[in-house]
Amino acid sequence: MAGYFDLTGKAAVVTGGASGIGAAIAQRLRGAGASVLIADLADATGQARDWGCDFRRTDVSIESEIAALLDEAVTRYGKLDILVSNAAIANVHPMSEADATRADRYFQVNALSALVGMREAAKRMGEGGSIISTASLSGIRGTPGWGEYAMSKAAVVAATQTAALEFGPRGIRVNAVCPGGVRTPLAVAVNGEALDKVMKILSPLGRIGRPEEIAAMVHFLASDDASYVTGQAYLVDGGWGIGTTLAT
Ligand code: NAD
Repeated sequence: MAGYFDLTGKAAVVTGGASGIGAAIAQRLRGAGASVLIADLADATGQARDWGCDFRRTDVSIESEIAALLDEAVTRYGKLDILVSNAAIANVHPMSEADATRADRYFQVNALSALVGMREAAKRMGEGGSIISTASLSGIRGTPGWGEYAMSKAAVVAATQTAALEFGPRGIRVNAVCPGGVRTPLAVAVNGEALDKVMKILSPLGRIGRPEEIAAMVHFLASDDASYVTGQAYLVDGGWGIGTTLAT
């Protein structure tokens, strides 16, 4: 088994790495041997240092900041092999209250950041690399209350497929991971105490996911062991997306 999913010598950038799923991804990639530059709106300089990572404060909704972030990775590590576009914002609003201004902001932070990340990463990757974006179950299956956010995540999946087709000939793989319910500060803020109760019913595994369980899939996709995997959007949702757990 030794050597599987080895990332020794790889240079990675993880956005939204100060918290939740992004923090688990950054630590996992670092643990597998990659140099990792964490980007976030929130200052995570100390955390990053503790994990053996670097940090750059970045607002991923600003195009020029994404370019500057990836430039810093190339300056620090001499190259860029892996980009994980993971930063996002979310909230729950029924379709009857859909708000175009709010949806626009979700699109800017969640979707356009991934799109620009793909473009800017591909520019710096040369021949070969892995781009992974955190989408969501809601981007590929109906999830009541998540309409505005879901649109932004569906766009991430669409961009992933197109980028995989365009960058594939250069050996750059582009994939997305689609979590269902994962216990993070974001999920707790949005769902409150109902979170565990709801996930007990929605997942056939009868529980909410852990950030490390999403990071494990990202790790695989980042590694050369996934060398024939591109253009995919993987549900890592404890089976929530396959159907209802309720007998009829
Ligand atoms: P989180 O809030 O714990 O982490 C998100 C991080 O992104 C935060 O550190 C935040 O500061 C950062 N961020 C937000 N806006 C930013 C910006 N403009 N620029 C830079 N950084 C910014 O949330 P999480 O639950 O870990 O979410 C991580 C990813 O997983 C997101 O893409 C989210 O949509 C997705 N996701 C989460 C769940 C879940 O149940 N937690 C489910 C499906 C998808």
